[in-house]
Amino acid sequence: MKTLRCLLAITVAVAAVTLLTAAQRANARGKKIVKQSNKNFYHPDGTFHAVKAKQAYYDMMKRFGYPVYDKLKTDDFWAIDFGLGDFANVGMAGIFWWNDQKHDYFGHEIYLLPGQMIVEHGHVRTPEAKPKMEAWQVRHGSVYLFGEGEETNPCPVELPESQAKFITVRNAKLLKPGEIAALNRPEAKHFMVAGPDGAIVTEYATYHDNAGLRFTNPGVKF
Ligand SMILES: [Zn+2]
Repeated sequence: MKTLRCLLAITVAVAAVTLLTAAQRANARGKKIVKQSNKNFYHPDGTFHAVKAKQAYYDMMKRFGYPVYDKLKTDDFWAIDFGLGDFANVGMAGIFWWNDQKHDYFGHEIYLLPGQMIVEHGHVRTPEAKPKMEAWQVRHGSVYLFGEGEETNPCPVELPESQAKFITVRNAKLLKPGEIAALNRPEAKHFMVAGPDGAIVTEYATYHDNAGLRFTNPGVKF
């Protein structure tokens, strides 16, 4: 009888797992990712509303107890949707704290809303710069870092539908506050997706030259 009950329990558990969709599976591992609606971030004519986008990041900074320095209230702090019109899913804010071409070093902070993705890209050599190398340290929240290597299956986080055709690297690594990881090699494609609380990530890198950016999605504007 005990064996039968046990068998029944296992059967029910297997059935329940089979019924879960990929997204539910991702959510089952942790807190559910709740994204805002795209319409909160666009003007009626469809153009990107950078002021509202920045406010969403300020709200997140306050939730994290992260200091909103004066410099973050200037135009040095930017928010973008990569020209894709899907900011709730694909976008970021950032500030280049330092970008020194002569001595080849760079300091940058990345801000992502819950579940938000930085589009897949790589950094190639330019006349002005070596292929940029990067390491990322999560300060608040969490990110799934995607790069070259064996595909992580199932994918631990839901990826934006708008980018489905423009993703070529599927090795995922979860980074929590304090944890750090680096690009596996120069020019390797990479992207990241924030966890359920969003993320603030410090990037340590070599000189950043915009001309070296290569996006997988040809529709991206940066
Ligand atoms: Zn990069």
